[in-house]
Amino acid sequence: APYRHTDVHDLLDSTLVMLSQKIGAHVSVVKDYDRTLPEIPACPGELNQVWTNLVDNALSAMGGTDADGTLTVRTARDGDRLLVEIGDTGPGVPPDIRDRIFDPFFTTKPVGEGTGLGLDISWRIIVDRHGGDLRVESVPSDTRFQVRLPLFPADL
Ligand code: ADP
Ligand code: MG
Repeated sequence: APYRHTDVHDLLDSTLVMLSQKIGAHVSVVKDYDRTLPEIPACPGELNQVWTNLVDNALSAMGGTDADGTLTVRTARDGDRLLVEIGDTGPGVPPDIRDRIFDPFFTTKPVGEGTGLGLDISWRIIVDRHGGDLRVESVPSDTRFQVRLPLFPADL
């Protein structure tokens, strides 16, 4: 896929618009963007898939459209990397499954609701295709999926 100069904030905003129905009236969205961050060489379509999956997972964790919660979308500079953090106030990722959530077809959702492919695809897009890093920090009511992307990749 073609890599081009990409503003991650535009992509995050379009993901939020696309998922506004699922965000509903009960979930508050907090945007905390560092607008001074430069554009990065990336495949916008692929990054959109990642943001969509992470936000969708966060909303599911908070109980869909009829439960209260806060979705936080943050960007920041972390050394020579751009950090995108998707946070939710759901119950969190239980420690005993934390090693498996990035595996293909791993899901805790009912049959028909989850494919278990979202985090696997996200991992491949971020780590394998963009030279970045994807991890989760989670305690009940404070879960953060963190994506780190090189600001100045040498070989993309
Ligand atoms: P799916 O969404 O189809 O289940 P994913 O690969 O996107 O597949 O996620 C795998 C599993 O990781 C989910 O079923 C869930 O158990 C866990 N998970 C992902 N995001 C969150 C989150 N924000 N809070 C709690 N658990 C999560
Ligand atoms: Mg998912």
